[in-house]
Amino acid sequence: MTSATGARVIVAGAGVTGLTVALALAKAGARVTVCDPAPLGRNASGVAAGMLAPAFETALDPLAAGHFALLKEGRDLWPALADEIGIVLDRSGAVARGDAAWLANVSWRLGAVGAEHIVTDDGVFSPEDWRLDSGTALVALRDAAGRQGVTFVQRDLRWLTGESSGIRAGIYDDEAEGALCDVVVQATGWAGGFAPEAAHLTPIKGHILKLAPLIPPGPVIRGDGIYLCPNADALIVGATMEAGVGDAHIDPGQVMALRAAGARLLPEVARASANVEVGVRATTPDGLPLVGRSALPGLILASGLRRNGWLLAPLVAEMVAACVLGRDPGPWAHLFDPRRFDTPET
Ligand SMILES: Cc1cc2nc3c(=O)[nH]c(=O)nc-3n(C[C@H](O)[C@H](O)[C@H](O)COP(=O)(O)OP(=O)(O)OC[C@H]3O[C@@H](n4cnc5c(N)ncnc54)[C@H](O)[C@@H]3O)c2cc1C
Repeated sequence: MTSATGARVIVAGAGVTGLTVALALAKAGARVTVCDPAPLGRNASGVAAGMLAPAFETALDPLAAGHFALLKEGRDLWPALADEIGIVLDRSGAVARGDAAWLANVSWRLGAVGAEHIVTDDGVFSPEDWRLDSGTALVALRDAAGRQGVTFVQRDLRWLTGESSGIRAGIYDDEAEGALCDVVVQATGWAGGFAPEAAHLTPIKGHILKLAPLIPPGPVIRGDGIYLCPNADALIVGATMEAGVGDAHIDPGQVMALRAAGARLLPEVARASANVEVGVRATTPDGLPLVGRSALPGLILASGLRRNGWLLAPLVAEMVAACVLGRDPGPWAHLFDPRRFDTPET
């Protein structure tokens, strides 16, 4: 990577996006500060199931249809990142279960995009989908960034002003102490946001259940609108997609519906005690993120990762680093252009 030695960068947001971006930029020689008012993991990244699932996301999520190659590229950057930060990826794949007509449709969709899969008596299995433990990975990312010299401030970022000698962005109580930097990266997920392009983000609230490990570790089990992740230490049941809802309160009606859907795949889910967690994803109208330069000078966006923030984080980090370094951000940049929803001036 070309050197960015000396560039002063503030990354707003310590979710998977902000941490992965900070690590990439620090490795390129930038002086990086990450600010976030919340404790580590108190965000969508911390509650996520951690699936790196190009195959079944493409097959089951209408907004991901057609993006298998993109999602797979994000997944394929994970082995190197996982080695670097010292985490293990679970590569046991995923299996879809449901009625014959639904399975036939899933199999057809996987085949249409060229995703490796096999139809068995147990359902439709694909080895393409991997997963990680999101809590462990967040700690590992923060530690790896710290080893590269990234500093952390537990404050929110306030955009103060752009100046000819740099941007003044406030991360302290006294605005006069706002840190002067060259670039701000907005990786604030759904909450917060100073970029005008963030007006195109809307929330999708998600409830997720974490149960005792009722079944042995193995492939993720996907049903219609539901998944079970059988991890060694927990069975994760996810997740609701509550479009337009941005609060983090637990809604008993959503929990009941999620549990009922999970029980269709595994009856024991109906009565097992559960930790309920809530996260809010940010989405754009086309379901793809906002990554690249804002109309506001000095501001780079890395927001709106919707259902696939973990999967896409290393790819987004590469793209943001390329923007900071003035390099080609690669073939996906036009799809993620933060200004793509702007109305052309007449
Ligand atoms: C229930 C659920 C399950 C999911 N499962 C998966 C999955 O299996 N695989 C997958 O790839 N994705 C999954 N996702 C999606 C994924 O979690 C998100 O896309 C991803 O976490 C987005 O990361 P982020 O860092 O952009 O945002 P967040 O994780 O939301 O982090 C944003 C951070 O910005 C901080 N912030 C806000 N305002 C400011 C400010 N002004 N200054 C500084 N900091 C600020 C917040 O405190 C927060 O910590 C899931 C999401 C949910 C809710």
